[in-house]
Amino acid sequence: MGAHSDRVDRAFVGRKVLTEAGFREAAILVANGKIMDVVSLSDVPAGISIEDAGDLSIIPGLVDSHVHVNEPGRTEWEGFHTATRAAAAGGVTTIVDMPLNCIPVTTTLQALDQKLEAIEGLLRVDCAFWGGVVPGNHGELEAMVKRGVVGFKCFLIHSGIDDFPNVEEKDLRLAMPILARLGVPLLVHAEMDCGHNGHDPAENLKKNPKSYAAFLESRPKKWENDAIALVKKLCEEFNCRVHIVHLSSSEALPMVVAAKSEKLPFTAETCPHYLTFAAEEIPNGDTRFKCAPPIREKENSDLLWKALGDGTLEFVVSDHSPCTPQLKMMDEGDFDKAWGGIASLQFGLPAVWTFAKAKGHTLQDVSRWMSEKTARFAGLGEQKGRIARGYDADLVFLDAEETFVVEKKNVHHKHKETPHEGRRFFGVVKKTFLRGEKIFDDGKFSESTNGRKLLQSQGETVKL
Ligand SMILES: [Zn+2]
Repeated sequence: MGAHSDRVDRAFVGRKVLTEAGFREAAILVANGKIMDVVSLSDVPAGISIEDAGDLSIIPGLVDSHVHVNEPGRTEWEGFHTATRAAAAGGVTTIVDMPLNCIPVTTTLQALDQKLEAIEGLLRVDCAFWGGVVPGNHGELEAMVKRGVVGFKCFLIHSGIDDFPNVEEKDLRLAMPILARLGVPLLVHAEMDCGHNGHDPAENLKKNPKSYAAFLESRPKKWENDAIALVKKLCEEFNCRVHIVHLSSSEALPMVVAAKSEKLPFTAETCPHYLTFAAEEIPNGDTRFKCAPPIREKENSDLLWKALGDGTLEFVVSDHSPCTPQLKMMDEGDFDKAWGGIASLQFGLPAVWTFAKAKGHTLQDVSRWMSEKTARFAGLGEQKGRIARGYDADLVFLDAEETFVVEKKNVHHKHKETPHEGRRFFGVVKKTFLRGEKIFDDGKFSESTNGRKLLQSQGETVKL
């Protein structure tokens, strides 16, 4: 035992602990919410409290770096109280909140401060923040980084809400040198409306609003491909970290491969819905599946899996972006007018694990994609996403071999609508711990709201 052993206040033990050396029997020694050491069971000091996972897997809490919480301003869509409960139930111990669809959108220092104040006392898990780049706000970016955002999101197409306008190349030419200097990433919603010849898919969708095929055709792969080509070019020019969010077009993957081989600071993520649904199976009129870019064909999804497996795609995040059932146009089934966004924060882990398992990937792979790499991406790589000395004791007790069916009664998002409803998944989250404290236990939540706002400042994480 090391000299620090007298400070250890509790241990988490189990036969399947995901350590740096893979799954093995181990004890995680914790003091004040931090992992002090990972040792063999015989090295657990006497007289401390022990949480025994038995045969359950102990994995690091997930870090979901793409979540739209929408508070303040659109809390009727989703808010921090409900989102962080759902996160805890889904084994997610850190979220990174998107700069929209809250009101005001997080594109100024003042708006960021308003959000930080509005969410006081609501967090059940830890939360970091992305800012937004919109036309004309390049003068705000540095102050927002100093206040603690971990990077910035922008759109190259209408964002869905008018108060978060999309940027064009000229706006990026102003913002990217600033972000490059500050060393923070630019997250890009990469779709660009490149027009059409003759047949107008947007008109066709208006005429056939319930048709998923018509919706899919209205947002072609080319929109993504063109947008990704543009930002890759700018990444090269400004040497600014660029990250493609929710990549869906398999045709864009060779550009990501090329950027990596050119050693550009260029990465891409994908989401559970692109990996676990296929356009061929989506019922007409079922707008729970509407998101942008759209869920594409099975063949496309297979290529995304391959890219995830070989590291072309860096990691998997939920892109949880719910709204009210009314705005989802559930009754009308209108893919043209419905809000585009999928509610999935709570089910990312079991959805991805179920399909990963069937494809021969391991739970360790899933943890790398959903905890370790996302933590590193959000600047939390020395604090979150691994079970190792010095890391936060954010832990999940998972029954990886037990299955469950997603039912409305066990959905903890603000609204129960999710396209995952009715699916049977492997991977039941039994308990979730945030910095050593149990926040979720077999369907029950602790009352505490000890989640922290994680604010990065000049390379240091400041915890409020
Ligand atoms: Zn999003």
